[in-house]
Amino acid sequence: MKKLMIIGLVLFSFVNGFGQVQPAAKPAATKYPELEKMTPGMTEVWEPEIKIIQPGVASSDAPSDAIILFDGSDINKEWTGVDGKPTIWTVKDGAMISTRGSGYIKSKRAFSDFQLHIEWKTPSEVSGTSQGRGNSGVFLQELYEVQVLDSYDNRTYRNGQAGAMYKQYPPLVNTCRKPGEWQTYDIIYTAPTFGTDSLVYKTPPRVTVLQNGVLIQNNVSLRGPTQYIGVPEYTIKKHGPLSLMLQDHGNPVAYRNIWIREL
Ligand code: MG
Repeated sequence: MKKLMIIGLVLFSFVNGFGQVQPAAKPAATKYPELEKMTPGMTEVWEPEIKIIQPGVASSDAPSDAIILFDGSDINKEWTGVDGKPTIWTVKDGAMISTRGSGYIKSKRAFSDFQLHIEWKTPSEVSGTSQGRGNSGVFLQELYEVQVLDSYDNRTYRNGQAGAMYKQYPPLVNTCRKPGEWQTYDIIYTAPTFGTDSLVYKTPPRVTVLQNGVLIQNNVSLRGPTQYIGVPEYTIKKHGPLSLMLQDHGNPVAYRNIWIREL
């Protein structure tokens, strides 16, 4: 009984706040200086001044800070075969042309992030169908292919036609010119970064492509290196700066006016 009375008293005290510790007096509110009134100048950044470069007369012309990778003359100045030997691609009328069996070529320089301009032309004399018509490719960092193909009135799988990030992203539209006409790719590329694990990207490679001035790839994140057969994610390996590479797929495809700006 006595026990019950004590418990009752404790409960009563708890419910009624009996014996509650009184809160300390509130500290005086801190006084801060009044915020300065915002003026337009407070958000203007003046220094350092943006670097001045000279644009080309036409947007396809190299600006003054670009590296010219092919100007229509000496192909061996900036390119080699993938084996490091002089390429056997032919140079004719200011263009370099892949011929069957001439092999892939790659730039002597290695790149990370860049803006690339490259012009290409598939044969005016149409032969072959699907992937067998005017097939070549621009490999970014030797690993990630922007498909080059005669996709004018030539159905193939959508993620393998001209402007596709091959087998990963189809182009947003088909804006191909007729076979035998020059076309442009303007490619903005952000290289991947890696953590300690080389089997995954910390940040994936990202690509934007304009074909003939039309956006066809909008900042897509690649899943891994381009694969003809298989899953890209399984082939990720840590890498630093790498070359550009152009594909010999057995079809004569011409390239000209190639320039790059490192970012
Ligand atoms: Mg190809």
